[in-house]
Amino acid sequence: MNLNKSTAYRTKSVVLRRRDLGEADRIITLFTREHGKRSAVARGVRKPGSRLAGHVELFTVIDAYLIVGSNLDVLTQASSINIFPKLAEDLRHFAQASWASEIIDKLIPDSHPDSFLFDLLVKFLELATNSGDIIHLHHFELLALQKSGYQPQLDACAVCGEHLDPSSIRFSAHNGGTMCPSCPSNLQTHKLSTASVKTMRWLLAHPLGQASILKINNQLIGELAYTTRVCLENAIEDPLRSGELFSPSPDSLVAH
Ligand SMILES: [Zn+2]
Repeated sequence: MNLNKSTAYRTKSVVLRRRDLGEADRIITLFTREHGKRSAVARGVRKPGSRLAGHVELFTVIDAYLIVGSNLDVLTQASSINIFPKLAEDLRHFAQASWASEIIDKLIPDSHPDSFLFDLLVKFLELATNSGDIIHLHHFELLALQKSGYQPQLDACAVCGEHLDPSSIRFSAHNGGTMCPSCPSNLQTHKLSTASVKTMRWLLAHPLGQASILKINNQLIGELAYTTRVCLENAIEDPLRSGELFSPSPDSLVAH
């Protein structure tokens, strides 16, 4: 379906972001399953009694009815499919949902449909609500990077192709993944344990939701958090805001 001006369409969507407009309206950024990321005006949504109001909360999965406008679409009707009230009640869960939504928002261009990433985000929001285990977030990050063409090299040196030495593995997002001891280092290179490399390989080969069977300690989580973050920022070419809440930058990881 081509979305020409004035076309009316209905689509399953996640509310990624929203901001106030004027006295009573809001601009909502939706990740739609069929048409990718779209921005729409929700008119009158901040007025008491608005029929739209309860259906455009952040991270809600909605059935949205829209009309294509010149710059922004117009959201005419919405009904909730999945709401995740726990995300709004608990800062830790909310931070994870914000981080995942920001990644999707920045990783994909407007109007670029990606049903895999859509389903991945919805699955992650369910996990963030029901479990909140941080490993699911890092699993989500790696699968989103993989699907977007930014999967890190983890089987050999990303620079020269040589085998890795398990006792001294380093990682550089700029160079595309793991590095051998012989290739030159730079300030953006950090150390990585064999356990982290193996865990990331496992995560990239399994669907989201299965990682709860892994036994993962805090050191490993720190390495995963830092490594996925530098990969994402390298892919997006921009710092990520919501991630400050996780502080995934342990100085001990940085190799000099
Ligand atoms: Zn090398």
